[in-house]
Amino acid sequence: MIDSSLITLNENAVQNNITFLRKKLGDKVIISAVVKANAYGHGIEQIVPLFEKFGIEHYSVFYYSEAVRVFNSLSKPATIMVMGWLCDKDIQDAIKKGLEFFVFNIERLNIAIKYSKELNIKARIHLEAETGMNRSGLNDVELNDAITKIKENAECFELAGFCTHLAGAESVSNHVRIQSQLKKYKKMLATLEANDLIPKYKHLANSAAAFVYPKVRMDLVRIGIMLYGFWSSSEAYVQYINHKTNKIDPLKRILGWHSQIMSIKKIKSGEFVGYGISYLVQTDIITALVPVGYSLGYSRSLSNKGRVLIGGQRCSVIGVVNMNMIIVNISCVDDAKVGDEVVLIGKQDELEIMVSAFSEISNELNYEILAHLPESIKRIVIKK
Ligand SMILES: *Cc1c(COP(=O)(O)O)cnc(C)c1O
Repeated sequence: MIDSSLITLNENAVQNNITFLRKKLGDKVIISAVVKANAYGHGIEQIVPLFEKFGIEHYSVFYYSEAVRVFNSLSKPATIMVMGWLCDKDIQDAIKKGLEFFVFNIERLNIAIKYSKELNIKARIHLEAETGMNRSGLNDVELNDAITKIKENAECFELAGFCTHLAGAESVSNHVRIQSQLKKYKKMLATLEANDLIPKYKHLANSAAAFVYPKVRMDLVRIGIMLYGFWSSSEAYVQYINHKTNKIDPLKRILGWHSQIMSIKKIKSGEFVGYGISYLVQTDIITALVPVGYSLGYSRSLSNKGRVLIGGQRCSVIGVVNMNMIIVNISCVDDAKVGDEVVLIGKQDELEIMVSAFSEISNELNYEILAHLPESIKRIVIKK
């Protein structure tokens, strides 16, 4: 390994997850693969060709710049939907490229009309409804304004979707709120349809909602975290697995993160390791230096808590996580050498470091840890 660390993407896991989701969601529901935040840290350029290979034809992103990266990573046409930020110029470019985008305020609708007329190309929009999350979306008054504007400028639009986002389907504690959002969504949809505006796709569900509330699947689901092999929460996982006789997780993690031993030292009992006095050596130990720190997304909150795999053993991070390095106690490893593999996330022999284990310690969500993996780390696709 030339680089200080390397991310591996397991192609068989991609196939496994897509096959599982297809089977559970049925053939009628379109899976939009959410690849925002650099495909949850996996790498847009590496993941999109894999998703494409196993039949994904619809992608969701947050930024226009991500949409362009998806566009450039595809080898055949697919639908790309921008759920979030677009500057005015991006809206012009999105219309030109045939990209779809959310409209959650009248300002954006007006800009779409302007550029659609200039370019003489229809804007492919998804009207986003405010149903109770109070984040983005058109309220009742705005929806009526939007309906009027769309009817007046019918030549400017293709109504690709009518959507909303549920505020936390991964936790039962939000059940009442989710039900009220669903009711609100249906009411607003009825208003839209009463005006002869029939959206091509109705969609509300992310991973958690698609599993916890099957009736919200509608025509399309926006699946992020589960495609990458994670459940949205342990609650969502438990709810699924409880009904099964076979208690094996049907999802497989795609991502592994590997580094190597940079240097080895023997430290005598009574010494402190690393900055400050947070780790006092109590018996003679052997340590390995690993060239990965918080600048690469290895959180500082894993100081004195993180675990890595070396020589098929689980080894503890000792002392504080540095900007570019961690120090690991490898006393339990026989014959460790400089250059030996270090697994930060993923499997080595029988053992596995899960992102979730990693995040329970550091109080970060799977989502956050993954999204913090920098783009600069090299990604390679493997089959295992
Ligand atoms: C991120 C996101 C999703 C995907 O959520 P997961 O929990 O990763 O499945 C779906 N919809 C919207 C609007 C999102 O922002």
